[in-house]
Amino acid sequence: MTELAILGGEPTFPRPLQPYRSIGPAERRAVEEVLDSGCLSGYYGSWCDEYWGGPKVRALERAWADRFECDHAVSVNSATSGLLAAVGAAGVGPGDEVIVPPMTMSATAIAPLFYGGIPIFADVEPEAFCLDPERVEERITPQTRVIVAVNYLGHPARLHELREIADENDLVLIEDNAQAILAEENGRYAGTVGHIGVFSLNFHKHIHTGEGGVCVTDDEDLAQRLKLIRNHGENVVGPLGIDDLTNLVGLNLRMTEMAAAVGIEQLRTLEAHVERRVRIAEGLSAGVDSLDGLKPPTVRRGCSHAYYVWVLGVDEEELGVSRDLFQKALNAEGFPCFQLSQPLYLLPTFQRRIAIGGDGYPFSLGSPSYAPGTCPVAERLADQVLIGFECCPYDVDGEDLKLLVEAIQKVHRNRARLAEHDRGSP
Ligand SMILES: *Cc1c(COP(=O)(O)O)cnc(C)c1O
Repeated sequence: MTELAILGGEPTFPRPLQPYRSIGPAERRAVEEVLDSGCLSGYYGSWCDEYWGGPKVRALERAWADRFECDHAVSVNSATSGLLAAVGAAGVGPGDEVIVPPMTMSATAIAPLFYGGIPIFADVEPEAFCLDPERVEERITPQTRVIVAVNYLGHPARLHELREIADENDLVLIEDNAQAILAEENGRYAGTVGHIGVFSLNFHKHIHTGEGGVCVTDDEDLAQRLKLIRNHGENVVGPLGIDDLTNLVGLNLRMTEMAAAVGIEQLRTLEAHVERRVRIAEGLSAGVDSLDGLKPPTVRRGCSHAYYVWVLGVDEEELGVSRDLFQKALNAEGFPCFQLSQPLYLLPTFQRRIAIGGDGYPFSLGSPSYAPGTCPVAERLADQVLIGFECCPYDVDGEDLKLLVEAIQKVHRNRARLAEHDRGSP
C-alpha cells in the first residue's frame, strides 16, 4: 500500500495539471481585425449614435441576447461593473436594503454600498449552497428593494421561487450569474429568470475576454438605465428626455472593441468549454460517489450545473478526519483543492462597518446584523464541510481525471492512518 504524500509517500500527481486555454486562432484573428481597423473603442461619452458603443460591442450584445433568449444584453468591462450598474438601475438609494447570500465572491455584496444600499445576508440551502427562499422572506422589510441571487459554483439558485417572491413584494431580482453560464432551471438559462442577470468574462470564468461582463434583461427601461450608468448618463438624460434621473449619473464601465471581438468568438464555442467542465465534474463525482463520509455535488431536479467549481462535502464524523486535514492530505497528493471563502459578513468591512468614508456609511442608515451566527448553514459549510476544485483553469484529460479520482480514493482509504497520525502529533 502506498504511503500518503502528507506522511512522506509519493504524491499521486507527478506534475501539476496543465492549464486550460480557451483562446485560439479565431480570437487572434478577431483581435487583429480590430487592431487593423485602428478603432479600439467605438464609444462616445455624449449624445450621438456612437454613445451606444462601436460595431464589435454592439455585435456581441446582439449575439449574447440571441444566445440567452433575452431582449437586451448590455456589455460592461467586468461583472463587478455589471453588478454596480444593476444595483443602480434597480434604483437602490441610501438606506435601502439589498438581500444577498453570504457565500459568493465579495463583489455581490459590495456593489450596493456604492449607492448607499445596505447588504442584508440571508442564509443558503445546505444542498446547492445558494439563497434559501425561506430565509430571504424572513429578511424582507419595508426598506428592502433588491434581492441578489447568486448561482453559486455553477448551480442555479431557486430562481423561479425567488422571482415570485420578488414580484410579490415589488422587489427587483438581480442574478449574479458570473459562475453559472449555460446552467438551467426549469428550462430557463440561469441569468435570465431575474429582472437583470450579470455574467462575467474574466479570465477565471468558463469563457473570457481577459476582463469583461454582460448584463441581460427583458425590461427595456432597465436596459436603458444600465446603458446610461455604463457611460456618463448625465450627458444624455437631457437629449433622451428622461424624467426619472435616479442613479443616472454615469461612470465609464465600457468594454473595448478588442474584448468584444474576443467575446463574440468565445460565445461561438461556449458549449464546448462548458461541456469540458461538466465532464471533469461528473467524472470526479462518479469516482467518489460510493465513499463513506464524502458527498459529491447534488444537482436539483429540473436544474443543470455549469461546474465552475466541483465541490466535495465532507462529513467529519463519518469520515473520522477533519475537513481541514483531509484537504491538506489531498493537496499533498497534488490535487489542487481549496477551502471556500468564509461568509462575507465576517470580512473586516462588515465587522467594522467601514465602507464609504470612515464613519460607518451606509451601514449606519440601518441596523444590519453581521454577527457570527447570522447565517449558520453557510458558516458550517465554510468551516467544516466543503472542499472545492476549480474546473475552469485546468485541461484535465482522461489520465488526469483518473489520477484526481485516485488521489481522493487514496486519502480516503488511508483515513484511519491520517487520523491516527493527527492524534499522535501535537
Ligand atoms: C467572478 C465573480 C464576480 C466578479 O466578476 P468580475 O468580472 O471579475 O468583476 C462576481 N460575482 C461572482 C459570483 C463571481 O464569481
